[in-house]
Amino acid sequence: MIDVINDIFFNGNFKYRLKILKGLEIVDQNEKIPKYPVLILTCMDPRIDVHKIFQLDPGDVFVLRNAGNLVTSDTLRSILLAIYQYNINYIIILGHLDCGMTKINMLELRKKVPYEFYPQGLREGLDLFSEIKEFFKPFIDELKSIKQQLAYLKRLQVHKKELIIIGMIYDVETGWVFEYERFEEFVHVQDFRKQLNTILKEKKFQFDDFFESLKDGIVNSHESGKKKEETVQLKKQEEDKIIHVDEKMKDNIISNANLNISERDDKLDTQTILPDIQLPKIHFPRVKIYIPKISINRR
Ligand SMILES: [Zn+2]
Repeated sequence: MIDVINDIFFNGNFKYRLKILKGLEIVDQNEKIPKYPVLILTCMDPRIDVHKIFQLDPGDVFVLRNAGNLVTSDTLRSILLAIYQYNINYIIILGHLDCGMTKINMLELRKKVPYEFYPQGLREGLDLFSEIKEFFKPFIDELKSIKQQLAYLKRLQVHKKELIIIGMIYDVETGWVFEYERFEEFVHVQDFRKQLNTILKEKKFQFDDFFESLKDGIVNSHESGKKKEETVQLKKQEEDKIIHVDEKMKDNIISNANLNISERDDKLDTQTILPDIQLPKIHFPRVKIYIPKISINRR
């Protein structure tokens, strides 16, 4: 296991350091406060990566994670610090479908976990089973649980009016995030699941609007004072640029793949790793330009 840790994590850290040396990553040593005044509380489930899901950058938000995205005493400690020390105004509880906390076998767990690790005297009169349940806090309904966490945190709004507490649920299968308004009316997660197709249709309308706004945004940015033909011409140029960048990346990858091992070692500092780590750097700024091209093709 130690080898695995070295291979994955420390080698990963070497790559990170190399990127820093090459100026491809920046370690921002000044900012302790996130870019947006937002804290996201989510589950420790590895399928949830808030930076991916919301396309955020490191340093954009505070993220707290635990099993089941629950407001526990320790979570509350961090939330209070975020609000009163770092002026965070938005708290997002991001729950998810298919949460492992709905599948815990308490009897099995009770057999495995040494009793000495449970805090003593949680509540007077609780039997061992109830005490362990109280400790791990499993739940049977993801949706209900999010609502409970929200209800608890909303008590903070009495003391801090500007605080906004938001609930969301993430579908690990599709990557969609559903806002509170879409599941508020449902009592149980099963009711929500039954309506998922209808809800998804609405989401897709929203998605189309988003898609259109992306296209308009890009057209407008080019269109000030120009005729339509010129705009079309600019779009064509942008598309050509994408093709050009893609070709360049392809060439880089092919030439890199052709290097033999010793050449790779010699060129480690400048060539070998660069094509790997340049890909997102080149590609991401082009995403907004590329999407309208798809929408044009769909007509
Ligand atoms: Zn979970």
